[in-house]
Amino acid sequence: MSTTIVEKLKKEIASLESEAMKEEIGIVTAVGDGIAEIDGLKGAKMMEMVSFETADGKSLKDALDESGELFGLVLNLEEDSVKVVVLGNAAAIREGMRVKSTGRLLSIPVGEAIVGRVVNPLGEPIDGLGAVKTDAEMPIERVAYGVMDRSSVNEPIHTGIKAIDSMIPIGRGQRELIIGDRGTGKTTIAIDTIINQKYEPEDKRPICIYVAIGQKRSKTASLMAKLEAAGAMKYTTIVATSASEASPLLFIAPFAGAAIGEYFMQKGRDVLVVFDDLSKHAVAYRQLSLLLRRPPGREAYPGDIFYLHSRLLERSAKLSKELGGGSLTALPIIETQEGDISAYIPTNVISITDGQIFLEGDLFNKGVRPAINVGNSVSRVGSSAQTKAMKKVSGKIKLELAQFRELEAFMQFSSDLDADTKARIDNGRKYVELLKQDQNAPVPFFKQAIAIYAANNGIFEGTTPEKVRDIETGFLSFVERSDKSVFDQLEKGRELTDEIVAKIDALIKGFKEANSQFYGQ
Ligand code: ATP
Ligand code: MG
Repeated sequence: MSTTIVEKLKKEIASLESEAMKEEIGIVTAVGDGIAEIDGLKGAKMMEMVSFETADGKSLKDALDESGELFGLVLNLEEDSVKVVVLGNAAAIREGMRVKSTGRLLSIPVGEAIVGRVVNPLGEPIDGLGAVKTDAEMPIERVAYGVMDRSSVNEPIHTGIKAIDSMIPIGRGQRELIIGDRGTGKTTIAIDTIINQKYEPEDKRPICIYVAIGQKRSKTASLMAKLEAAGAMKYTTIVATSASEASPLLFIAPFAGAAIGEYFMQKGRDVLVVFDDLSKHAVAYRQLSLLLRRPPGREAYPGDIFYLHSRLLERSAKLSKELGGGSLTALPIIETQEGDISAYIPTNVISITDGQIFLEGDLFNKGVRPAINVGNSVSRVGSSAQTKAMKKVSGKIKLELAQFRELEAFMQFSSDLDADTKARIDNGRKYVELLKQDQNAPVPFFKQAIAIYAANNGIFEGTTPEKVRDIETGFLSFVERSDKSVFDQLEKGRELTDEIVAKIDALIKGFKEANSQFYGQ
């Protein structure tokens, strides 16, 4: 008796489900500003894709220039209608058009072949190099991995930037914010990090994804040329949107980047994603929300912008062994106004990330480039992933620079200072010099470790801060010429063993003897 009731109920549920699966047809009742209001899509879901058709059900092929379909994205579910944003040429939409629900959340096609390409947030190539062969569809938004699916961050991602790798180390699977005013070198840090991955052995090299959100086309083009010239484009995908594009595309761009990243992460690969930048993303979302007539909140941003960004960044992860051990590291970028990090979007993203790299206009203008404010920058999880070699040398440099910051204020009274304080300030200045670095010239970690070790062990004793950078380059090429095994051993073993330390000590001595021009007043 009871089994028949269960059977009956099961059948009923099945028929209800198939009813829900049936595609629904709605009608456009209003359209404007890239938003269409649609009646009749009762079963529509948030972030679902809907497809526009002409009134008689034909595809929009003739109405459009390129692709045959025109999609909309459901963003507002209202009592008896839904609002969708048009992903593409909204001018082709007319009142009375038919809209078909697809039952699919917005996803983009992905495949191995997407590496090395420039695509738009819908995964369509825009580099003129033909179609991308794809083998999977990745949803643009998805629930992030839970705690049980993750393992702790235990491998470094080397940026090639001395100040970061030594003092603000980043681990694979971490979210590290790059924050600073306009033109302080934010993008350069991200790009140099991508370039630096070419020094990684091929099996460890992360796939890099650079998401340009509302950047000038010329900027994205020159950035791609830089990556190309450095040989970094072969492991990089660029998801590009420009300032002239409609806000819906800008809105989905970082999610598309994350989706591409997840495709590779699920295959057990390491991935690095740069979101350049989330300030422009927030503005695009604000625009979109105002068009959707959502009530504005603080600084006129929609109230859910925090959750939007936290959902996005929560997707970076280091997966457990059982899930293949892949990782997704995120470098979101935020632009501040006059260094004001207490504005709404900066505070949000600071609280969502595992640390931040602060860039300062003052430092930049003083010639301290990269303009990283080491005192205010932190990395909360990366140090457990730092190589032993780096860990060993970083303690002293941190201490020296902290002391230097305290004493810096007294520098203007330098004539009245005692010899000890003077020496400390001088020493600090040498470390500041050591951390300066040209753009697009990332330094592999083993060279960084050797240079910092040498600094900690007297290579700059008896010289002036002005000569530090020459000595550093001179010493590294001296090591390469005299005993390249030091490089090789350190690169492989990632540890400053007693044997290597003894070799470097001897090399420091040899270098100082052979290069008296740098030393003595
Ligand atoms: P925006 O706010 O416009 O996006 P940004 O903060 O991303 O700027 P970048 O575009 O990376 O800054 O850099 C600004 C300028 O500073 C560029 O002209 C770049 O070439 C220069 N620059 C960046 N880093 C360095 C460096 N380490 N040494 C010398 N010049 C640098
Ligand atoms: Mg930039």
